[in-house]
Amino acid sequence: MSEKTSDKMSDENKPQKPFSRRNFIQISAMTAATLALPGCSRNEKPVLSTLTGDFDPLRTYPYRGWEDFYRKIWTWDKVVRSTHSANCTGSCSWKVYVRNGVMVREEQAADYPRINADLPDYNPRGCQKGGCFTEYVYSPQRLRYPLIRTGERGEGKWRRATWDEALTMVAEKLLDNIYNHGPDTNSFFSVIPAMSPVSFCAGSRLAHYIGGVFLSFYDWYCDLPPGEPLTWGVQTESCECADWFNSKYIVLWGSNISQTRIPDAHFAWEARYNGAKIVCISPDYNSSSIHADLYFRINPGTDGILALGVAKYLTDHDLIDAPYVKEQTDLPLLVSISTKRFLRESDVKNGGKEDIFYVWDAKQQKAVPVLGSMGSDKKTIQLEGTDPELTGTFKVQLADGKTAEVTTVYELLKKELANYPLDKVAARTGLPAHEIEQFAKELGTRKPAMIIHGAGTNHWFHNDLTNRSFILLVALTGNVGKNGGGFNHYVGQERLWPEQGFFKLAFPETRKKQRFQNTTLWSYVHSTNKDPHLYNGKPIEWYIQESVKNGWMPLWPKNGKKPRAMVIWRANYLNQAKGNEILESSLWKDLDLIVDINYRMDTTALYSDVVLPAASYYEKVDINSTDCHSYIHPFGKACEPLFESKTDWDIFRALAAKIADVATKKGFKPFHDDAFDWNRDFTQLERDWTGKGAIQSDEQAVNFILGNAEETKGMTYAQLQEKPRRFVATDPESWNSDVEEGVAYTPFKHQVEKKRPWRTLTGRQQFYIDHPWYIDLGEQLPTFKEPVAEKFPLYWNTPHGRWSIHSTWRDHRAMLRLQRGGPIVYMNPEDARKRGLQDNDWVRIHNDIGHCVCRLQILPGEKPGRVTMYHGWEKYLGFKEGGWQSLTYIKIKPTQLIGKYGHVNFRLNYWGPTGNNRDIKVEVEKAKV
Ligand code: SF4
Repeated sequence: MSEKTSDKMSDENKPQKPFSRRNFIQISAMTAATLALPGCSRNEKPVLSTLTGDFDPLRTYPYRGWEDFYRKIWTWDKVVRSTHSANCTGSCSWKVYVRNGVMVREEQAADYPRINADLPDYNPRGCQKGGCFTEYVYSPQRLRYPLIRTGERGEGKWRRATWDEALTMVAEKLLDNIYNHGPDTNSFFSVIPAMSPVSFCAGSRLAHYIGGVFLSFYDWYCDLPPGEPLTWGVQTESCECADWFNSKYIVLWGSNISQTRIPDAHFAWEARYNGAKIVCISPDYNSSSIHADLYFRINPGTDGILALGVAKYLTDHDLIDAPYVKEQTDLPLLVSISTKRFLRESDVKNGGKEDIFYVWDAKQQKAVPVLGSMGSDKKTIQLEGTDPELTGTFKVQLADGKTAEVTTVYELLKKELANYPLDKVAARTGLPAHEIEQFAKELGTRKPAMIIHGAGTNHWFHNDLTNRSFILLVALTGNVGKNGGGFNHYVGQERLWPEQGFFKLAFPETRKKQRFQNTTLWSYVHSTNKDPHLYNGKPIEWYIQESVKNGWMPLWPKNGKKPRAMVIWRANYLNQAKGNEILESSLWKDLDLIVDINYRMDTTALYSDVVLPAASYYEKVDINSTDCHSYIHPFGKACEPLFESKTDWDIFRALAAKIADVATKKGFKPFHDDAFDWNRDFTQLERDWTGKGAIQSDEQAVNFILGNAEETKGMTYAQLQEKPRRFVATDPESWNSDVEEGVAYTPFKHQVEKKRPWRTLTGRQQFYIDHPWYIDLGEQLPTFKEPVAEKFPLYWNTPHGRWSIHSTWRDHRAMLRLQRGGPIVYMNPEDARKRGLQDNDWVRIHNDIGHCVCRLQILPGEKPGRVTMYHGWEKYLGFKEGGWQSLTYIKIKPTQLIGKYGHVNFRLNYWGPTGNNRDIKVEVEKAKV
């Protein structure tokens, strides 16, 4: 023991100072230092001769500033509430922290009001992409200035332009097209208004006032479930995710919620504590399958036959809710056996209506009309004392004196279901028969039961049939229109709650005066895309011509003209386009002007002519809503738009002003638009666009939407900045349930509880579509059809991934680090072995359409016979050749081209052919690199 140590020890015998935070830290530090000294055990006294007096850094060290360095990371000047507009469906409220004018970080806001104490709440919401958006905003791909292309499209050669120069170029071209080729040669593409309606409306207002063609997106992306408009007469209706907790049986069908619904997946997992069982049906064993009580590793493209096999089991074993089925569905309605058409009032009465239908009343033993159909005067579906037969064959006297043999839709359905015995279904799906039986029994007995439906099944060619088969299951069991039940489809952030306010802002002179266009059809017709398959012996071109000729689907521009200009904002058309390379070499080439408004250089921007830099999600004022919850919350301006960027609102306002300026300087007379008898005076465009000056700013636009919608009556933008608000009501025009205090939202309570007719021709959930094309193609009832035949061996599966929202965040440094840093294709080990492929090999994926070259990852969870690449990779992000869309082409399903059939009519994003892509097949081989 040294002398100094001895001194120190004697100091310890002096009277102690009162215990303070400082001496506690000193003692702790010394103790820690003691224990940390090499070779120093607890029993040995260390040599501490240097840790005294002026050498104690905690007491006397002169430079203390560094101690606060890390604390200052967490300081800020202001906090602004905002969110993300990427079509994730999340709609999560975030706080953005700003210091010295720089957005330094974000944090989940976690103040969604609770629905009731028995339901898990929505807090906190978010995902890892949202958690790193501040970094994305300042990343190299950020667009800073207006750019005008100097090289070939896609070559990446640009020059910086002034706003004035770029806007003048665009304004002159749009006007030139209108006066020389017609307003329908200007096309506008933007997606998903729910994710930022003010940004959407900025451009749609311009399209509206200059007569441009507004292109659809929800059907084009194949997010629209066409079975819903067919069966229910709605676009998409789903419960909010808190309602998952109310379910006792949750079937995840083609939906990997752990990966694609990150903020909401917990509601399903927590439902298990509430007694729910989880079934997961997916070809790959994935991050949602691990939570399942029953997992079906189904063969790709066979979901429809499984559903119909289960429906057969339910009907054979009397597991249907007969009173519900009689009242709420068309299954008891009578159909003529010879014509396969519904029995109509016009058949049995001279001068009778085409849209009144009949059931066979067991009490009266005769056919009686049912209430609530489109032709019925009574707006109720109550049976009013009748007891419809579900089965049987009957004779009915017709108006012409003849007798017709009729039967029920249910009877026909039973005949159809006879095609799906358990052993056949088991063989085709690759699933054990006894497990299918278990699934059917449980679905028929555990109530309420719901299907959570995703793109995994919706992106197939026969998506309408599959949707209808799934809906059949939850309708037969009486689960639709009840909390915890139903068919709930979550693909795309399609639910714009304050819809009427939005429509007034988006298309001010009403939607009737707007050129709308289904994008799948537009992209097919205006490109060299060619579907080689025949449908009932006819090419798809025949069906397209008939549909357009009959006025079922619009096709712009008219008279064989080609589109000449395309303005794209809030979207990545080229990246997401099926038949990407076909489009690039035809439709894209034919366009004289492509304008992209964007905050980052994505594939579409790269292949454009003029790029206008837009504000990011944290630099603008807007609002956000989703079908996943019943709240509204805002985007806020954490800082002014970076560099020379502007908000979408300001960009389109400036473009409107520039068009007015050019029209004035060039002395353009008003353009008479014959289609709408509309005299368009472009010299007044800025005045029209701003609603005669009433809506100048984006905040005014938000308040306009809020103030013109039942759902948000009384709310203001300033209030939403304080915290998210739950919607106060639903507009009965567009909704099928009320927002109820303390209750999670679920649709169709108006029909089930209040007996309001369904929005269909028959006024019921309509499983029988007696349109001639459906009858000719054998699809009048839900049926199973095999995927479209393709000659290659492996299905090309491109689902939504965990590390991006479509193409957004695909190029984010942190997200790339969580994968292998570039595009990869996943393959089952057995498929890889057969092809002599090793993990991380460069592989060439190819078919008759095209090819791409990327790395391989071997994944036991992948299903043999299928390869997967999570979608959205930009073309410039690590492919040696091609891209993920190089292998796809557009295939239009004939039955999705019909119109003028009761409730089935073209409507933007509501009814029209979907841009499916899951039937595509490929081969994979080692690449020569
Ligand atoms: S990206 Fe979507 S899911 Fe993720 S935090 Fe943002 S809003 Fe939520």
